[in-house]
Amino acid sequence: MSKENSEIIKDYQKKIRLIKKYNKLYYNDDSPLVSDSEYDKLKKETIDLEDNNKFLRKFGSVKNIVGAKLSNKFKKIKHTKPMLSLSNAFNKEDMLNFLKKINNYLNNKAESNFELFSEPKIDGISASLIYENGILIKGVSRGDGETGEDILQNLMTINEIPKNIQDDDVPKVLEVRGEVYIGKKDFRVIKDNFANPRNAAGGSLRQKNPKDTAKIPLKFFAHGFGVINPMIFKTQSEFIDKINQWGFSTNPNNQVVNGLDEIEKQHKLIDETRSSLDYDIDGLVYKVNNIELQTRLGNTSSSPRWAIAYKFSSEKATTKIKDIVIQVGRTGAITPVAKVEPVTVGGVVVSNATLHNEDEIHR
Ligand code: NAD
Repeated sequence: MSKENSEIIKDYQKKIRLIKKYNKLYYNDDSPLVSDSEYDKLKKETIDLEDNNKFLRKFGSVKNIVGAKLSNKFKKIKHTKPMLSLSNAFNKEDMLNFLKKINNYLNNKAESNFELFSEPKIDGISASLIYENGILIKGVSRGDGETGEDILQNLMTINEIPKNIQDDDVPKVLEVRGEVYIGKKDFRVIKDNFANPRNAAGGSLRQKNPKDTAKIPLKFFAHGFGVINPMIFKTQSEFIDKINQWGFSTNPNNQVVNGLDEIEKQHKLIDETRSSLDYDIDGLVYKVNNIELQTRLGNTSSSPRWAIAYKFSSEKATTKIKDIVIQVGRTGAITPVAKVEPVTVGGVVVSNATLHNEDEIHR
């Protein structure tokens, strides 16, 4: 092997080790060491390395790492259907590629149109709920995607999770997947113990003692399904409407859209209003609405081909300045700092903002 290649392998393995370390801290310990953007940058660099150096294939792919290795805190349960990641889009062109790829895969004419279901991407903790004859019998975390943790007792403490669904239509086996989260207002009360609402939700949900979970006001948005037997739904939107009637909380900003213009319009609309929501979202998930088409499209090893997370650019929020204090730096430089009413931006509670100069203060 050339010296250059062995250097690339060394660099690659170092990056993978770092990603696994960050994953453990983020998913298992709920105490991330780096920001999401720093993590995303590292992941992108690793993917670029793989794409540019085919000889790295023998090591597998970073794209196939979902979540983190499971801790021994809970009993392990294998998912009947894997709980995958989502691929990401960051702009209109990425969304156009997503639509094109689907049409290619289905051998459609390029201009073929199909309905998409647009849903806010909740920045919480994924969980899977399994009902048999309408009774909640299993509650599992995503874990590494293949196997999750048995967190039924903890999930049972969440009011928004139905424990018993009574309706003649309920399939014999019903697996509902969704996101456990903590509202921004509820988070303010406990914020000193956690870095952000997502960590608070993760930390509370994975307590050894369910009584500790019950102390935190966790909520749940249902957004997907695993196994349903018999399958009675034709579309994602129909599934969401029905489970809402069965008592699940579903997102009021979900919407059926058609074509690129409507995708963009919905993305802009929700982006503009997201700081007023009581929970963090970091994008919209667009899903092919027709479930038969979803099945035809299937999954790659790490994500469904029929869904994509269209991320928002960094979040802006409005708040009130309560006071301005003067901070003196080590070099003697003076900086005005605004004390603001706490506001959550991108999963972090902001209560101070550096003002830099007079223009910034007026702004
Ligand atoms: P992902 O971005 O691939 O998204 C998949 C998840 O989105 C699903 O598991 C699902 O539960 C959730 N989701 C929320 N709303 C949904 C909806 N309406 N429909 C479908 N799914 C919905 O998630 P991931 O693979 O867990 O993580 C990637 C994210 O985690 C990145 O943003 C990354 O920055 C962050 N991360 C950060 C660190 C760190 O150290 N800071 C470490 C690991 C991961």
